[in-house]
Amino acid sequence: MIRFHNTLGGALEPFAPTEPGTVKLYTCGPTVYDYPHIGNWRAYVFEDILKRFLLFRGFKVVHVMNITDVDDKTIRGARAKGVGLEEYTRPFTEAFFRERDMLNILPADHYPRATGHIPEMVALIKSLLDKGFAYRKDGSIYFAIDRFPSYGRLSRIDLAERRAGRRGDADEYEKESVHDFALWKAPKEGEPVWETGIGPGRPGWHIECSAMSSKYFGPSFDIHCGGVDNIFPHHENEIAQSEAANGVKFVNYWLHCHHLVVDGEKMAKSKGNFLTLTDVMNKGYDPPEVRFLLVSAHYRKMLNFTDEAMHQARAGLERMRNFLVDLKEVRREGKPTPEVAQLAKEAREEFMAALDDDLNISEALAALFSFIKSANVLRDKGRLNREDAAALRDLLLEIDDKVLGVGVGLRIKNAAIPTPLDIKSSMPKPDIDTGAPASAEAMEGMIRQKIEERQEARAEKDFKRADEIRQELLEKGVVLEDTKDGVRWKRVAPKQ
Ligand code: AMP
Ligand code: ZN
Repeated sequence: MIRFHNTLGGALEPFAPTEPGTVKLYTCGPTVYDYPHIGNWRAYVFEDILKRFLLFRGFKVVHVMNITDVDDKTIRGARAKGVGLEEYTRPFTEAFFRERDMLNILPADHYPRATGHIPEMVALIKSLLDKGFAYRKDGSIYFAIDRFPSYGRLSRIDLAERRAGRRGDADEYEKESVHDFALWKAPKEGEPVWETGIGPGRPGWHIECSAMSSKYFGPSFDIHCGGVDNIFPHHENEIAQSEAANGVKFVNYWLHCHHLVVDGEKMAKSKGNFLTLTDVMNKGYDPPEVRFLLVSAHYRKMLNFTDEAMHQARAGLERMRNFLVDLKEVRREGKPTPEVAQLAKEAREEFMAALDDDLNISEALAALFSFIKSANVLRDKGRLNREDAAALRDLLLEIDDKVLGVGVGLRIKNAAIPTPLDIKSSMPKPDIDTGAPASAEAMEGMIRQKIEERQEARAEKDFKRADEIRQELLEKGVVLEDTKDGVRWKRVAPKQ
């Protein structure tokens, strides 16, 4: 049985998606006002492990992650630089996708951008006005939290101190200042303005996720994730907006990861204590090591970022890699030994059972390392033959490929990861004619199409054409791998 800790209610609950076999997952994506830091990556890697685990357990997962490209912070940044929002946010969005690939995070099915969904937000705000949950004041529109009786249930905030009708315009605020929040903000000097049916202005941050999730999932879905700092006010406000407008439960399971901290303090842009992936690479670590560090702590525990922790991540990875190399050296012929098959079977079961229990990665990894230790003892005693060694290797490779994603079998080739200084974007360039940024979805659609074309060419024994397509993709920084499960692809630095 799979159980997750649901922030809504604060208890472990058995997990079952509404539609059997399919999980609808929404994760709050980056606010593209700056480069992502590894605190952000902790949240995205946690969400990736959750998703990979669900896939491994046989669910289909539909994953939506928004890109917040208009809010207080992006507007402030663009103004300070004297450029438009699109120009300001584009490099940060591209960096997000580039680093996502370096950290081997599975792409979401959709990456909706806030600026591309203003009509959906306007429709939602209009419905809140019509139903009496929202009111206008000085050109802005606010959500009246007193009209939504279950306000505060997710974050269990104290509503006693609030003053009726007290309002705030800022996207972010502390629990202590609970108040009516802005759905739509009146035009201001130097801010972008959309002319809409509810008047001119621009959206507040919270309405963005309510509008974009319902566009892809409808009014209800299974899992919503983010870091704990998102619980209040962001997720509390999302629930209020969506449930008030739609009259049905918004999300069944809320999963939040704890912070990545430095010296006990949350890693954050505002605190100046942040490190980007490039910063950590410049210290000499590679992305799989960073990923392994982020993966290896339970998502609901605080994770302290230190050099010592990075060393441990490196040592753990080395143990796994050495294990695989040593097994390759086993040459004795023979039939599979039942004892060895049993060892692998039990390790796999223990690993998965630990993850079933609210993604208990510490126990899952303990099971994995204890398996490695037992297998090494058998090897040292000369009790493994080639078949046994292959079975043991396959288990580790499968667990890594499906769940951990740290490339122990060198599937993420270190050599293929560009050094920080010459990282080249593998994102398609913006469409010059329309000015529209080419999306990651478009890029992936193109890759899938090319792979299909190549399969067709191969089926027709047109190997020349098949090779041309492989080469074409390579020039775009996409490497194809033919595996027994079909064709896989991964990104590397584009070939010049
Ligand atoms: P933002 O770009 O600020 O909207 O944040 C994107 C995601 O990163 C959200 O899910 C945040 O909760 C998460 N996040 C931000 N800082 C940290 C941190 N230090 N540790 C873990 N998650 C974080
Ligand atoms: Zn959100």
